[in-house]
Amino acid sequence: MTLLMERYDVVIIGSGLGGLECATMLSREGFGVCVLEKNPVAGGCLQSFTCRGRLLDTGIHYIGSMDPGQTLHQYFRYFGVLDKLKMRRLDAEAFDVIRIGDREFSYAMGYEQFLRVLCKEFPHESDNIRHYCDGIRKVGRMIDPEYLRQGKISAGGMEYLEVSGSEYIDRMVGDPLLRDVLGGNNVLYGGIRGRTSLYHLAMVNHSNIEGAYRFVDGSQQLADALVGQILCQGGVVRTGCEVVSMKEERGKIARIGLRGGEQLEADWVISDLHPACTFDLLEKTPLVRQALLSRLHALPNSYGMFSLYLLMEPNRFPYFNRNYYIHRTKDVWSGPQGSSYAPILVGAQLSGDNPAYADVVTLLCPMLASEVAAWQGTRPGRRGLEYERFKEKKAGEMLDVVSPLFPGLEESVQSMFATTPLSYADYTGTPEGSAYGIVKDCRNPFVTLVSVRTRIPNLLLTGQNPNAHGVLGVTLTAALTCSELLGMEYLAKKIGNA
Ligand SMILES: Cc1cc2nc3c(=O)[nH]c(=O)nc-3n(C[C@H](O)[C@H](O)[C@H](O)COP(=O)(O)OP(=O)(O)OC[C@H]3O[C@@H](n4cnc5c(N)ncnc54)[C@H](O)[C@@H]3O)c2cc1C
Repeated sequence: MTLLMERYDVVIIGSGLGGLECATMLSREGFGVCVLEKNPVAGGCLQSFTCRGRLLDTGIHYIGSMDPGQTLHQYFRYFGVLDKLKMRRLDAEAFDVIRIGDREFSYAMGYEQFLRVLCKEFPHESDNIRHYCDGIRKVGRMIDPEYLRQGKISAGGMEYLEVSGSEYIDRMVGDPLLRDVLGGNNVLYGGIRGRTSLYHLAMVNHSNIEGAYRFVDGSQQLADALVGQILCQGGVVRTGCEVVSMKEERGKIARIGLRGGEQLEADWVISDLHPACTFDLLEKTPLVRQALLSRLHALPNSYGMFSLYLLMEPNRFPYFNRNYYIHRTKDVWSGPQGSSYAPILVGAQLSGDNPAYADVVTLLCPMLASEVAAWQGTRPGRRGLEYERFKEKKAGEMLDVVSPLFPGLEESVQSMFATTPLSYADYTGTPEGSAYGIVKDCRNPFVTLVSVRTRIPNLLLTGQNPNAHGVLGVTLTAALTCSELLGMEYLAKKIGNA
């Protein structure tokens, strides 16, 4: 007896932001889609989880270009989720604060205000700051909705992928402190000196200078809103469904195998996984040679994060509507090197029930997977006492730095919870628990920028690994992936005119 296999137009592996956005666009355009997620809840890094009665966010702390008419706002309008999102605009006079030594510098929202605030601190660099902003704005605007309406996802800008972001800053301004200030938020985009491109630096900074927002009550709401939309449009989202194999026949993916033995068929397969993990699922085929697999496995991944959640006493510590980047060394691009000195990003989660007080304060610090290599292969919650001690030590070091800068913070902490890159690797399957996926390296953009197309014509990639990371980057990539099925001009105009 042969079992009838479920058949879809498109099967999407992974329900991270990229997978859900592709499913939303394609189901809206009439494709029969099925999203397969290994975890019990959809969302990947969008997920918020409950710990001791508090909602904790895993991987999204704020997002940019969310004012009406701006890029992400326009995409979310097309996805049909805008009215379901609860968000708050960060402080206009300082959405980010960069702390270097004992001085603090603000990034204000809107270019005129951003310029005014920085020129006040660095009057001798006023012209240079203006030129820096012109450059950032020029690159960032290449994905403006006006291009969508012309039928393009981007107006170009590929040449900026070969220019180093840190070198751009060094070229534009001369004062070493100002250079540090302009590069001081690089943890937000996994910045590496001399390697992260001007394109990636500009996209993130431009979008936040335009309109930076925080979710009220967690980023899970974005995943839930996208899932709701997919279901309304006739799509299917299956959680607790791990894809364990893909079989190629006659040059195409013919079957997708799930843990437990079930198999599905599809005309198209989109993978939201790291490309190396995607190809590892593929049963042996002459279309994918060992050399390609080795190359994908060898691509360096961005660092991961040590996330320390401070669960605050109710009604004790005031909510702050901005983010702080606290630098412990003179090199703001130090990344995770010797993570006891790595920069710390401090943010607060915003609760709709009690917006005046911080329910949870989050401290993020870049960390390499090698720091927790001793516990590789252990299971979450069962990694042993040494691991708990390691996390406690790390948490203590971070609190020692942060507490003196936030009077009343430490006394208001009720309890703490911490995760490491191991937690992310186990939860999302991301190699090395990397926060932003493959390092997009301006010294070698054509090797490190993986295409959404693969050697198998009906297998496409999406998510943070090809093209760009973060909510904005993943959204653009999802549009690029879907344009392979829908046509770029058609899709761009639909998004732009929504
Ligand atoms: C600590 C941290 C803070 C961050 N802060 C921000 C921020 O403030 N702003 C911002 O814009 N970006 C931020 N980012 C980056 C952002 O979260 C990511 O770029 C983005 O969410 C990645 O989405 P994705 O679609 O690539 O996939 P992921 O979120 O990695 O999702 C992949 C999904 O695939 C599933 N999966 C894996 N294997 C299988 C399988 N075999 N079968 C089925 N399902 C499978 C996983 O369970 C997961 O749900 C942050 C990241 C981290 C880690």
